Amino acid sequence: MKNLDFDMMRRRMVEEQLIARGIADRKVLEAFMKVPRHEFVREEFFESAYGDHPLPIGNNQTISQPYMVALMTECLGLKGDERVLEIGTGSGYQMAILCQIAKEIYSVERFKDLAENADSVLKRLGYANYAIKVGDGTLGWEDRAPYDAVIVTAGAPGIPRSLVGQMKDGGRLVIPMGGEFGQVLTVVRKKGDTVEASEVCGCMFVPLIGREGWQKK
Ligand code: SAH
Repeated sequence: MKNLDFDMMRRRMVEEQLIARGIADRKVLEAFMKVPRHEFVREEFFESAYGDHPLPIGNNQTISQPYMVALMTECLGLKGDERVLEIGTGSGYQMAILCQIAKEIYSVERFKDLAENADSVLKRLGYANYAIKVGDGTLGWEDRAPYDAVIVTAGAPGIPRSLVGQMKDGGRLVIPMGGEFGQVLTVVRKKGDTVEASEVCGCMFVPLIGREGWQKK
């Protein structure tokens, strides 16, 4: 195998893909400098692990583009003491970023093998402030609610009501919403019994499949 300088690749990713495009939250940038993204992909993708694109992780799923992970994390507005729920564990990379920034991270994944793989990588890297569950994340994770912030890393047809129900008042939900082949990254704020949604940008995610998402084909 080629001798790859992952530290240098990571620094370039942060400078050229994140800072250059306006990611400014210090906590987010520091987390991206620390988390070894290549650990979350198979060895055949090591060389492109810090590239400006998503990568396959098996089961027809992907680890999102670094910029998208950074933008979504920044949209959560985390300070450090939050309890965060993620839907769509995938590779576990977004979780590692969240583990660096917030207090407790809970993540739900449909596929058992992805959940187990993410868990073993996160453990190996020494993270201990998280838990992963296999199941339908559109229904949230009731036992650990309420959450300060919720992040959905798959494209949804609309806002899953269960997720809003499990959020604290004033909490934020970041979710790609729209059709199956293109969505709008949306930030939803819970205000008492109502929600306020604001659109961030266009994006492209694999579908959120579940009771309050897309139905399985
Ligand atoms: N956050 C991931 C990217 C995940 S891709 C990362 O950092 O790598 C989206 C993931 O959402 C896939 O793993 C897919 O299996 C999962 N997913 C889709 N619908 C889901 C549902 N209803 N509940 C839980 N996970 C779901």
